[in-house]
Amino acid sequence: MAAMLCRECGFDYEAGAAEAMCHELPRVVGELCGEAAGRPDSAVRLRPGPGVWSPLEYCCHLRDVLITQRERVVRALVEDCPTVLPMHRDERAELTRYAAEDRAKVLAQLRAAAEMAAWSFASLDGSQWARTCIYNYPEPMPRTLAWVSRHTLHEAVHHLADVRRILARADAADGGSTRILHSARLVRGCLGGYPSATLWDVSIANWRVY
Ligand SMILES: [Zn+2]
Repeated sequence: MAAMLCRECGFDYEAGAAEAMCHELPRVVGELCGEAAGRPDSAVRLRPGPGVWSPLEYCCHLRDVLITQRERVVRALVEDCPTVLPMHRDERAELTRYAAEDRAKVLAQLRAAAEMAAWSFASLDGSQWARTCIYNYPEPMPRTLAWVSRHTLHEAVHHLADVRRILARADAADGGSTRILHSARLVRGCLGGYPSATLWDVSIANWRVY
């Protein structure tokens, strides 16, 4: 079987049970949303190069992937080995204006889509995991829903790595102030109600040991 190990993010398609995705997907998406929530808008909307999405656009893409996967699960359960429809990822990003979307709304939608996709997979019984569809990645071939589950989790893990890489570049470009703001907001979430001066002191200390 092709594509068992992703050379970019290290995701191993054989490393975990398909059922584990139901818990792992919301957790990984939660990490991704945490990365994107506390950064300046300039960092979240940074396109690191021509043809490369910003963190916000990756979040929009992953949201739409998860919605699409949920529909593919239903089709594979109802139809005999259907050929999945392409989601037209690049055209979709332009046509539905990912770059102009509101960050808070996108992150809320992404969390919801992760819960919805995880619920669809969690609803499968023993024989349903073996239902198949013709999946187009990396080449058209029959895939079980167990494989589709692992591949869906891979999408989240892979794009979490993408977003972290771009945000690290944004941190380096602005001398670390992006990370200070990120740390301050994380601390504020833990220490809600503390005076802002205290939060700032704690955030600086946090940044130095990051
Ligand atoms: Zn990967």
